Order: sequence, then C-alpha cells, then structure tokens
Amino acid sequence: MLVVMDAHATPEQVRAVCARIEAAGMKAHPIPGTLRTAIGITGNTGVVDIGTLEAMAGVIECIPVSKPYKLVSRDVKEEDTIIRIATPSGTVEIGGTSIGIIAGPCAIESSEQALTIAKHVAASGVKLFRGGAYKPRTSPYNFQGLGEPGLKILAEVRQRFGLGIVTEAVDNESLDLVEKYADIIQIGARNMQNFSLLKRAGRARKPVMLKRGLSATLDEFLMAAEYILSEGNYNVILCERGVRTFADHSRNTLDLTVVPAVKKRSHLPIIVDPSHGTGRRHKVLPLSRAAVAVGADGIMVEVHHDPDHALSDGMQSILPDEFLRLTDEVRQIAAVVHRTIN
Ligand code: PEP
Ligand code: MN
Repeated sequence: MLVVMDAHATPEQVRAVCARIEAAGMKAHPIPGTLRTAIGITGNTGVVDIGTLEAMAGVIECIPVSKPYKLVSRDVKEEDTIIRIATPSGTVEIGGTSIGIIAGPCAIESSEQALTIAKHVAASGVKLFRGGAYKPRTSPYNFQGLGEPGLKILAEVRQRFGLGIVTEAVDNESLDLVEKYADIIQIGARNMQNFSLLKRAGRARKPVMLKRGLSATLDEFLMAAEYILSEGNYNVILCERGVRTFADHSRNTLDLTVVPAVKKRSHLPIIVDPSHGTGRRHKVLPLSRAAVAVGADGIMVEVHHDPDHALSDGMQSILPDEFLRLTDEVRQIAAVVHRTIN
C-alpha cells in the first residue's frame, strides 16, 4: 500500500500518517519526491484501514501496490534514486545523469599489490576502488581473502589516494567490520538470497551494492533489494554480473537486457560488472561500452597489474593500460547518452 500525500502536506501531517500506520502494527516508509511525499507501508502483521488514512489531513489517496516488491518499485518513487558516496576526494554520484566507475583487483592480496593498482585507478580519474578482503570461493582450498588485515590495506588505499572503497561482506560477522571500512558494502552473487545478511545490510549506515544471483530472476533480484530497503537502508545499488546459461564461450552470460527492465520497474540505480559477467579479459572493454550504452548507472571492473599471478580472477582482470582506454571510451559513450562519469 502507498499513501500519496498532497504536494503541500506539512511534515507534521506526514508524521501523523506514519504514526497511524505504525499504531496499526505496520511499518511506514516516508519517501520524499521532488513534487510530493509518498509513504510506503510494509509489514504483514496489521491491517490498515484505507478509509481512515484517506480521511487524514494532507492525504490525497491510498494506492494498493500490486507488485511483490514495494519500496524498490517505481510506483512508490517515480524519480531515479541517486546514491551519493562521500569519498575523501569529494562526493561521487551513481544514478540519475551520473555514471560511476568502480575498479580494482578481485581480491586484496598484499599492501604492495593494492597500492600499485590503486595508483593506476586514481591516475585515471576514477574515484571508487574495489577489492575483496573476504572472498566467497567455490573451493575451500582457494584463497579466501586476507580478512581484517585486507580491510586495513583498503583503509590505507583510501587515505593515500582519496579513493572510496567498495568491499564485500560474506556474512553478518564480516559485515560488522566491512561497515567500518567501506564506503559501499558489497553483497555478492552467492549471497543474494542470504536473507539474514540482507536484513543486516538493511540496518547498515552505508550504501549497499547488491549483486544479482547466478540464476536469479528479475523479481527475485528486486525482492532481495526489498529486504534491504524494508529494514530502512534506501541506499541500494543493483549490480548485474552475468547469469548461468548453456553458453560455453564465456564464464557467465552478461544480461544487459536486465538494465532497461530494472529501469522500468525500479527507481534504484543498476551498474554492470563485465568482468564476472564474461570471465575473459578481452570481453571487458566491449561489454563496458555496451553497458553504458544500454543505460547502466555505472560499471565495476577488475584491474590487476600482474594478472598472471593474481590470487583470484586473473583471467578476467584487465591491465592498467587497458583500463585507461576503457575509461576514455566509456566517457565518450556516456556523453552520447547525455550522462557524465564522475
Ligand atoms: C567479486 O566481485 O569479486 C565477486 C566475488 O563477484 P560475484 O559475487 O558477482 O561472483
Ligand atoms: Mn572476482
């Protein structure tokens, strides 16, 4: 259910409607828009009396939301959500007319490795650095990440180069730590339906980047995001990273068609990860161009100065020189679709 408030409704009137909803055992989510405020109602423990709500001062109407997802839906918020990330070198925007680029290694391997790559990323003008300190690996015998020492290296990268940090939490315990170090908390594809982790991310104070599950439908993807918003964290960035298909020419099939599909249904920004989406270095540049052309709000790419010796995902990591070319070409495509890269 969505309560649409009058454009001239006062903050007190909005508060009164929220209080009435909460008194009925439901949760109220006021969502300010440019023209008016809407109040989303979630929770299935109580019953709201539409007549009573519609009679309250400042209320225009109550609209039932037929979609299974509510807070992520465009029905609830018409305009694009813009995520603002405060990095040491200024605010970076993802969404609206702004496209964000996130780059860095798959995993933080050592301080020397991270600082070398970060230097290249910063030199390209990109302001967000990625790198996992906790790695969800298919095999328990593969490199699992450095853990908290890896987060400390990321803190050094942040401080030395002014880069905002994107890093993954794999469980509630690591999320407690990641929340302290990261500017964006990443939830990986394998955890897209880890509901307790999603709820914990919903209580975090930092933006969350939620990656699409390996075989998740669009509804499942949006419902996973709904978990985070329903706990009160509205700063969610979706990330398409490829899904499993019968195709055997690439690691995954990067589903770029999901971008306009998300845009139609949701106000949340969606970025594209062509590194995991293809699994091969030579496909990262063309698919990055395509992602921006199709309307993605950002791209996330893996970059490594010595990919042959990378501890994870070397085959899909591009070299710093290739990354420079990528940022140059992607900036040009962004201009064609009337967007800017920051
Ligand atoms: C990653 O970004 O390094 C990662 C593990 O991605 P995904 O969860 O999409 O496999
Ligand atoms: Mn990776």
